[in-house]
Amino acid sequence: MTEATQERSDWLQDLVESMYAKHVANHSGEIATYIPELGKADPDDFGICVVTADGRIHETGESNKTFTIQSISKPFTYGMALEAYGPDEVARHVGVEPSGDAFNSIELEPATNRPFNPMINAGAITVTALLYDYYGDEAFEQLMARFSAAAGRTLDYDESVYRSESRTGHRNRAIGHLLLNFGMVPEKIDAALELYFKQCAILVNCRDLAIMGATLSNLGNNPVTGQEVYDIDRVKDMLSIMFTCGMYDYSGQWAYKVGVPAKSGVAGGVVAVVNRQLSIASYSPRLDLRGNSCRGIDVCVDLASELGLHAFDCMNEGSSYLKALL
Ligand code: GLN
Repeated sequence: MTEATQERSDWLQDLVESMYAKHVANHSGEIATYIPELGKADPDDFGICVVTADGRIHETGESNKTFTIQSISKPFTYGMALEAYGPDEVARHVGVEPSGDAFNSIELEPATNRPFNPMINAGAITVTALLYDYYGDEAFEQLMARFSAAAGRTLDYDESVYRSESRTGHRNRAIGHLLLNFGMVPEKIDAALELYFKQCAILVNCRDLAIMGATLSNLGNNPVTGQEVYDIDRVKDMLSIMFTCGMYDYSGQWAYKVGVPAKSGVAGGVVAVVNRQLSIASYSPRLDLRGNSCRGIDVCVDLASELGLHAFDCMNEGSSYLKALL
């Protein structure tokens, strides 16, 4: 690292630390308890990590503490399904339209019976059912291998969170069976639902999430390990859906305020991806009424404004601008 690069890195590290200091006193929101095991999280936990598209890591707070990935798994399984089946076949099963409704809403597009998009539960369960049909009993290993490659280390999953959701996930089962009723998913929907619950229970920390995001910001190539993880064309698809649908019924406001692709999960993780520049991950389990992390939203709003990350910010001169600054 040259002296100038070192100085710029220190500056970004300082900024990440100042975000922590600014938002740590925010105690608004509630921990998710509808999956009983999630209720055991420490509400005060707070971690932030920023990873640049060339692999520099800046982190603070509880950025090493693991939590379950939950819905942040959805763009990553969507990318796998796109690669396995091709975009046209996947589009026969799930749309790309924001629903404007809650993540667990029970609704399908009237004309096609498809779920609106792969970021809400109905669409994600469809995607996972497609992956189960493709990989059979190997599906979970395939998923773990891909997520691990994106994170740059071997990930594990939380058996008790998986069991807790499997025991209480009646709403997701209802969604799965509704999809089966309309012929939108293959027959073995119960096994596919178990796979979906397990995928949501994959354990990550803030740094893992930021590296997974940086893999997307670096055109599918993990910038820390150098491994090719996703096909470049599929990364474009994944980020597009994250941009329009990643924050559920907050996606419009998110696009307005933050202006970058992102995904949240009910365990308190948020990851935001700035194409070719960097990724921001935050972990803080207190959620707003839509199931998005309260501090996570605030950190991303502030960092986007500090760094001019919004896609339409006048400071944003395209993908080369921040690279020069960082
Ligand atoms: N496993 C959770 C569910 O299906 C994921 C939801 C989320 O993170 N928003 O309800």
